[in-house]
Amino acid sequence: MAETFIKTDIRQYTKAELELLFEQNGQQKFRGRQVYEWLWKKGAESFEEMTNLSKDVRKFLSDTFIIPVIVEDKVQRSTDGTIKTRYRLHDDHLIESVLIPVPADNRYTVCVSSQVGCSLTCSFCATGKMKRVRNLDPGEIYDQVKLVNEQALETFGHPLTNIVYMGMGEPLLAYRNVMKSIEMICSPEGLHMSPRRITLSTAGIAKMIRQLADDEVKFNLALSLHAADDVKRNQIMPINEQNSIESLMDALEYFYRKTRGAISYEYIAFKDFNDSLEDAALLARLCKRFPVKVNIIEYNAVEGVDFEKAGADRIDAFARHLTKAGVMVTVRRSRGKDIDAACGQLANKG
Ligand code: SF4
Repeated sequence: MAETFIKTDIRQYTKAELELLFEQNGQQKFRGRQVYEWLWKKGAESFEEMTNLSKDVRKFLSDTFIIPVIVEDKVQRSTDGTIKTRYRLHDDHLIESVLIPVPADNRYTVCVSSQVGCSLTCSFCATGKMKRVRNLDPGEIYDQVKLVNEQALETFGHPLTNIVYMGMGEPLLAYRNVMKSIEMICSPEGLHMSPRRITLSTAGIAKMIRQLADDEVKFNLALSLHAADDVKRNQIMPINEQNSIESLMDALEYFYRKTRGAISYEYIAFKDFNDSLEDAALLARLCKRFPVKVNIIEYNAVEGVDFEKAGADRIDAFARHLTKAGVMVTVRRSRGKDIDAACGQLANKG
């Protein structure tokens, strides 16, 4: 029976690993560095482009590896300037990224996906209804940033200023690939962006937050909190059953002490569920242990979900309560609603 040979993604190798690979195959070590520069600095999408390598070396590479680039599949533009792009992966799965421009603040943010689908089934989220298919490769995450950066330059004449891992999937469940993508985004051979411009948003996995702290990451962390007591949080985020709010606070405090990174809580305001002043008081209490900023987010309707968005008056009163308690608060009016690009709406609807 013929042996099936599965080619591997060459972009999962570090520079040192590529150098070693060439040495082990009887080639000069510096070839590894050249390939690495083609992949990351020059954004090569095929081995044929690597013209300073001999034909034999290029053949060896294309016989052994693939460069699984992502391809733009569909672009939707909101009336408020937000752009949602759907990308097709090498295995035909689809993911989405969103460019959120705020020219007045000189802020151009991309929201990237880290998984195809998601396993966490948060009840208010469209992605959570899709089931997890697989983690994205580091290169597939990196490509979203690279391509949306080009889109920002073309459309607004401005490069990206911020990156948030807040799209489809739970980044801490794709830990290794997410970390590798961030390394490349920040590397001089990649996009050379500052880690302080990156925010990883998690639904809350205490053990992995501690891992981030132990890895001494330099980027910021956002917790999708959405409820300030365990009973309510269990109802909307099943992950809370194994990761109580108390355990998350302990992990976040540990993260803060070790990295001094900025921490924020994301809080979607749902009508008559978590938008009362009692909820605000509970939330204020969770803001005492370490410096934290609260982002209150307008909810966007998702098909098949019973929640409604909280009224503007309720949100304002809620925010005022927090401010009076000394908490830093921002109210984020939703962006890209008309194209289902807003928080919790990414679901490859087409
Ligand atoms: S909110 Fe985030 S973690 Fe929860 S289901 Fe949606 S994508 Fe997954």
